[in-house]
Amino acid sequence: MSASSRETRILIIGGSLAGLTLGNVLHRAGFDVHVFERTPGQMEGRGAGITMLPGLIEGLQGAGVQATESMLGVHLPARIAIGQNGEILAERDFPQTMTTWKRLYDALRAVFPEERYHDGRTVQRVEQDAGKVTALFTDGTSLQGALLVAADGLRSAVRAQLMPEVQPVYPDYIAWRCLADENALSAATHATLFNRYAVWFAPGQQGIGYAVPGPDHAVAPGKRQYNMVWYRPVPETGLVRLLTDDAGHYHPNGIPPTALAREVLAEMLATATRILPPQIAEVVRVARMRFFQPILDLESPRLVHGRVVIIGDAAFTARPHVAAGVPKTTGDALALAHAIQAGEGDYPACLQLFEDLRLRVGRTMVGRGQYLGAYMQAQLGPESGRQAAEAARNPERVMLETAAPFDYGEGRVAAHGN
Ligand SMILES: Cc1cc2nc3c(=O)[nH]c(=O)nc-3n(C[C@H](O)[C@H](O)[C@H](O)COP(=O)(O)OP(=O)(O)OC[C@H]3O[C@@H](n4cnc5c(N)ncnc54)[C@H](O)[C@@H]3O)c2cc1C
Repeated sequence: MSASSRETRILIIGGSLAGLTLGNVLHRAGFDVHVFERTPGQMEGRGAGITMLPGLIEGLQGAGVQATESMLGVHLPARIAIGQNGEILAERDFPQTMTTWKRLYDALRAVFPEERYHDGRTVQRVEQDAGKVTALFTDGTSLQGALLVAADGLRSAVRAQLMPEVQPVYPDYIAWRCLADENALSAATHATLFNRYAVWFAPGQQGIGYAVPGPDHAVAPGKRQYNMVWYRPVPETGLVRLLTDDAGHYHPNGIPPTALAREVLAEMLATATRILPPQIAEVVRVARMRFFQPILDLESPRLVHGRVVIIGDAAFTARPHVAAGVPKTTGDALALAHAIQAGEGDYPACLQLFEDLRLRVGRTMVGRGQYLGAYMQAQLGPESGRQAAEAARNPERVMLETAAPFDYGEGRVAAHGN
């Protein structure tokens, strides 16, 4: 490696949406950028449906993806709120486009040079001095650059090294997630659910559901999937059972869908049939993929540590009610790319403004997630809090506020549905 390439090279750790967005923008601006991703090969979808909120398409286009919203997802013109017995409690026009993580990942990966994407490379730690930063990999190799960007997600190794005190906080509820093929749904359930974003309610629980592109990104009728999220209270002590497979292995950082214990799945199916609106219970029954995620709040007090910058979910993770993780992630990447270009190599100065802006956005987003998740968080608390949360739960308001456009400090105004 020559001294000059080390002086301009930018190392990005994590090759998901944050890393790829930033990598693409910087590559197009002429920087010597390299992305290092722990997972070998192409990454598979995690079953996460994505609401295309304002900022998302701009982020993708800024990264070089030549696509419009309608090319990337399923357009839904309206929203409904469904009660426990399957009745429609409210309905509003609320146009939005829904897509999948995999659709966005594939689009970003397709426009990033293969030779600059290094898969199967895991960063163990970083070292830096006044003039350079070094990534040290688990395979014993290392690489130097002028700047290192940690886009390594919620369990970021780089953040853990620099700020070990920053830990995700579990607010006592999980989300069960299901993906069902469009053709697996009965005609009646399809008619109620498929062309509208649904928010649904049951005692002590609630959730959402919406159509997303099919496994091969198809958006044609008959080829799509239904994505369902079911928020359910679980005490922290109950997580160990959910995260332990039939062979007794504990998966503290997330259990693969195929490893869920039979007893856990059976209990989930029985509970769905007993308490969820019938259309939603049907989705759970016919789903081809079922998994769960603990809900977590993560807030970083700093994003810039000398020549290391933290972006995306590694910096802030808000609860899925806001559905703004991807626009936040692409927004972080665009803001950082802009700062790097404007700074002309003077990293301390250019990164300060970036940090001020993106800390504000991240904090506002986490706070918004806590507000939207307050009903669920109250469920395992004192009886008085539960009653107050029940009295405050207004289906129409939940329908309009969940996954809705919101100004997190970037000048984007709440636009739809009100
Ligand atoms: C169920 C669910 C639903 C969601 N719904 C929405 C939604 O509707 N709208 C929305 O905008 N957002 C949504 N999100 C959030 C969105 O998926 C994330 O915000 C976004 O993917 C974050 O991207 P990221 O690149 O920062 O992190 P991640 O996607 O977590 O990527 C981090 C990457 O770093 C890699 N990595 C980790 N450690 C290392 C290491 N040491 N070395 C090298 N590589 C490493 C990982 O393998 C991974 O590929 C949802 C999330 C979930 C889980």
